[in-house]
Amino acid sequence: MRKLMLLFTAMVIAVLVSACSQEGNSPKEQDDKVKIVTTYSIVYDMIKNVGGDHVEVHSLAPIGSDPHNYDPLPGDLVLTTDADIIFYNGLNLEEGNAWFNELVETAGKSVGDDNVVRVSEGVEPMLLNSDEHKNEEDPHAWLDVQNGITYVKNIRDALKEIDAANADDYDKNAEKYIAELETLHEEIIDMMHAIPEDKRILVTSEGAFKYFSAAYDFQAAYIWEINSHSEGTPEQLKSIIRIIKDGGVPSLFLESSVDPRSMEMVSRETGVPIHGKIFTDSLGEAGSDGDTYIKMVKWNAEMIADGLGK
Ligand SMILES: [Zn+2]
Repeated sequence: MRKLMLLFTAMVIAVLVSACSQEGNSPKEQDDKVKIVTTYSIVYDMIKNVGGDHVEVHSLAPIGSDPHNYDPLPGDLVLTTDADIIFYNGLNLEEGNAWFNELVETAGKSVGDDNVVRVSEGVEPMLLNSDEHKNEEDPHAWLDVQNGITYVKNIRDALKEIDAANADDYDKNAEKYIAELETLHEEIIDMMHAIPEDKRILVTSEGAFKYFSAAYDFQAAYIWEINSHSEGTPEQLKSIIRIIKDGGVPSLFLESSVDPRSMEMVSRETGVPIHGKIFTDSLGEAGSDGDTYIKMVKWNAEMIADGLGK
């Protein structure tokens, strides 16, 4: 059904896009920008940092929504059709539910094209291990800032390729941004290592913290492993409740982009409070907490240190 709707919209849009590009000669500055579509807000922010004024970026999954399960709107198809370059996470984030591949193909492009760029290229994938998803790749690489730096380098290289005239600017912007990310990575290590080792159990709804836990010496526990489902089964709830009780976990955490009900139930069952909101698959709304990649990572670290460090 979704596919049919997209296909129908594609026909309407083909007409609209060609009409737009014919009259699009007027505002020169607009035309000069590289038109970019990306799948979610975290990569959107990275692209803005590297691309600066030379790029015009649209994030498909809006802030606060779940990029695993996004349903593209007709407007998304217009922008995807018209984009000079598309950036996606890969590692099973968008392809897991096939919505991205479907959108790209309906837009007359293909995931193998040079201008459809996987920002996680070069990241060592970690694998899911629940029965249902055994050996599928875990998408949440960006929660380890070292992988975030790899994303930024891939974005920089792709922008230099497609817009060579501004290559120096992309280099400079990326260099400055990567230096900030390197500092951030060191800060997070210090903050996380200040938490006693036996308290470093991070309980979230989705198991999004595998890469984070490997990088910053944590144990990740969760209700469900990946957001292709977004409520816990009775078995999953039972299992997490046991981990929390056995581990003497003092605080639980709730992601900004998931349904809170399962974690609320776990909190009621265990008597362990939900300490606060953390960001995994989306930034915070502009002007609020965690509204950039750097701010969201810092926010998470502070929230975790505060909830577990007592
Ligand atoms: Zn996720």
